[in-house]
Amino acid sequence: MNKKLIAGNWKMNGSLAANDALVRALVAGLGVQSACDVAVAVPAPYLAQVQALVAGSPLALGAQDVSQHESGAYTGEVSAVMLREFGVRYVLVGHSERRQYHGETDVHVAVKTQRALATGITPIVCVGETLAEREAGQTEAVVRRQLAAVIHLNGHCISEVVVAYEPVWAIGTGKTASPEQAQQVHAVLRAQLAAASPRASTIRLLYGGSMNAANAAQLLAQPDIDGGLVGGASLKAADFQQIIAAAQ
Ligand code: PEP
Repeated sequence: MNKKLIAGNWKMNGSLAANDALVRALVAGLGVQSACDVAVAVPAPYLAQVQALVAGSPLALGAQDVSQHESGAYTGEVSAVMLREFGVRYVLVGHSERRQYHGETDVHVAVKTQRALATGITPIVCVGETLAEREAGQTEAVVRRQLAAVIHLNGHCISEVVVAYEPVWAIGTGKTASPEQAQQVHAVLRAQLAAASPRASTIRLLYGGSMNAANAAQLLAQPDIDGGLVGGASLKAADFQQIIAAAQ
């Protein structure tokens, strides 16, 4: 069984004061060691603040995006090397909000994954189908296509990524995939990874989409679910801590 990973995605939320209170509460709750890995993916301007707050604790720092470029004239972009300088350990890649609102394609996601890996940051590669795709019976084809692009470019390094299955219809909607629905897709992803890497069983597959304190335990009990990517519920210390407890 893989060590579980619970990663919070703050999205475009937070403030200096709110971050301070939230991270201090999480660090205090985790103590010196945790039975599962825990990370928070914070907005880029808060990386230095949160880096200082998590120092010496098991709480890992994450970012929400990384540039596909190494450096240069790309206004507004943040490179993997820059993230690394702030102690970033995980970066979300290909979140559906990036795909939907910022035109990120499967190829962009594959290149961003490569940039993160080359810099020693673990990419959390997000895949997932829309409601229309699910209703058209295309779920497997969509997630397989999204993951195939990442495998194709990254070859054997694929064993170093984390994959998050996030059905788009479940993100921020309060609608969660049932444990069985989630497990079914995770099994598909695991099989696809197994065809690409002898270490597929050690690749952590997270579920994301309205995970909360009430549904986390059942989702996390599924054989191919190795953790969660948590949006809304990661903004409240007590809720996030209950999800962490369910993973321990
Ligand atoms: C997310 O943003 O990755 C996410 C899963 O959000 P939520 O938990 O709010 O659905």
